[in-house]
Amino acid sequence: MSAGEKVIVVGGGLAGSEAAWQLAVRGVEVELCEMRPELTTPAHISGELAELVCSNSLRSREITVAAGLLKEELTRLGSLLIAEAHKYALPAGGALAVDRKRFSRHITKLLSEHPKIKLIRQEVVELPDSQPVIIASGPLTSDRLSAVIKELLGERYLYFYDAISPTVTAKSINLGKTFQASRYGKGAPGYINCPLTEQEYELFYRALLKAESYPRHQFELDKFFEGCLPIEELARREKEAMRFGPLKPVGLVDPKTNQRPYAVVQLRPEDRDCSLYNLVGFQTRLRMNDQREIFSLIPALTEAEFVRLGSAHRNTYINSPHHLERSLKLKGRDNIWFAGQLVGTEGYCESIAMGLIAGLNVYQTLKGKNIISPPPTTMLGSLLKYITTVSEEVFQPMNSSFGLLPAMDKKMENKLAKKEELAKRALNDLGKMIAESGMTIQLFARPSRPSKPHPERPARQLSKSSAKHPPKQIPGVKEEKPARTSEPSPPTHSRQQGTIERRGGGQRRYQSDRQSRTGKRGDESGKSKDKDKSSGSDKPAS
Ligand SMILES: Cc1cc2nc3c(=O)[nH]c(=O)nc-3n(C[C@H](O)[C@H](O)[C@H](O)COP(=O)(O)OP(=O)(O)OC[C@H]3O[C@@H](n4cnc5c(N)ncnc54)[C@H](O)[C@@H]3O)c2cc1C
Repeated sequence: MSAGEKVIVVGGGLAGSEAAWQLAVRGVEVELCEMRPELTTPAHISGELAELVCSNSLRSREITVAAGLLKEELTRLGSLLIAEAHKYALPAGGALAVDRKRFSRHITKLLSEHPKIKLIRQEVVELPDSQPVIIASGPLTSDRLSAVIKELLGERYLYFYDAISPTVTAKSINLGKTFQASRYGKGAPGYINCPLTEQEYELFYRALLKAESYPRHQFELDKFFEGCLPIEELARREKEAMRFGPLKPVGLVDPKTNQRPYAVVQLRPEDRDCSLYNLVGFQTRLRMNDQREIFSLIPALTEAEFVRLGSAHRNTYINSPHHLERSLKLKGRDNIWFAGQLVGTEGYCESIAMGLIAGLNVYQTLKGKNIISPPPTTMLGSLLKYITTVSEEVFQPMNSSFGLLPAMDKKMENKLAKKEELAKRALNDLGKMIAESGMTIQLFARPSRPSKPHPERPARQLSKSSAKHPPKQIPGVKEEKPARTSEPSPPTHSRQQGTIERRGGGQRRYQSDRQSRTGKRGDESGKSKDKDKSSGSDKPAS
């Protein structure tokens, strides 16, 4: 690869749009290939770039919620999509919900008019031998490209369906109500077993029957695979079905009673440090809140911290721990990167994040610089660590979650205070990484929350007084001269004592006051709820 080479970005979804922008603003020529509207996916409805396929929410804005912290990190790294999402925000309480049509229309305009980006409306069906390429074709990658990726990686390493069971942190399991053993005592006792009495099983079974599931999308499988049947489907077949399936107690003896339990939920370690455990065979389509409530009926899991809840839906993703380096480059190939949901992260913000990292790292590689690798104490770094180091045998897609961050040295009982500390550490460490890397970042304005809906205007007019202040710089962040775009971006409004300035082509730079940099907002700091028990806590149904 040479510095002057054009980069191909496959897929103009959330990740591809972010990656293309990160390259283009740094002066790299990009060919952004998007197959829509000529050929579409079963979920997209327009030909616009960065279309939000289902919910219009990018989840929480609070940095004490995983998705909120991830967004803050992305903002500090100059994410275009997060900045634009704020501009097209709709009133939605603590969440960042956007006017999806206007958002994606605007992203399409920005990217297609950028002098460094050539938008090619075409399905990609082959990959270049040496030209740099970022594959960001998403969970609904076209069949022909899927076949090409399968050939590149091998049949075993590309998946088309998620059947995810929930994952809990090891520290939140009540070990006093478990025993460690493998069935029939074979091999090392790697599993944590959670025994249930007949009454406990009955309670769990009845709760499952009453719970509500997410409806399936039309294009998803008509029938579930028998091998990965959702737990609630199994329960609906007959009462004993779970005891002959994932909850079977055979070959297990509880040392406390010296007897075989009535039923057993098995927890399997998910990472080398055994900090996360997966509920074996608990793939499910139950609604998020129902999952938390019902799985907490298992005596050892009454206080469980879910880092991921279960799901079962169509999704194309690769076995990243086997194939990807931390930079998102394909191992053994110098010109291929993967980005977005394909790398095994889930969610809009996570997809944007994986587009941003791929874009930055292709740039760094082209310039012969060190790769950008946010530390694992950041939400971004913890996701990258997870997808590249978790056991490839049990790899399943992951959302951002506080459970992925390494524990703090000091023990804290108050969950919200603990998350505040973790968020502070994450942003501090990210700042250090940015400063040490010497990278240049184009920062965007930080509009405040919309107070009431306005059908036409994305954000309020900038007040004259705030426009007067000269821009400052975040310590350690060198700002880069933004590229010109022909469309002046709509002016934006700042509620805090921030400063804002227009530069070439309507781009703005902004430095908020300290309060806004920490992500705390005066009127909400007291309201922030500890709702991120799981990464999916504020995630809408997909
Ligand atoms: C049905 C569904 C609903 C979802 N709902 C939510 C939700 O509500 N909230 C949430 O947080 N996450 C949701 N997700 C998960 C995920 O966050 C989104 O799918 C997200 O858009 C993924 O971003 P991406 O950039 O990886 O892929 P996408 O945004 O899907 O972008 C991929 C792009 O590549 C294009 N493409 C595919 N193949 C080719 C090819 N061969 N050549 C050229 N272009 C190609 C596609 O047309 C598409 O534009 C959902 C996923 C699905 C499948």
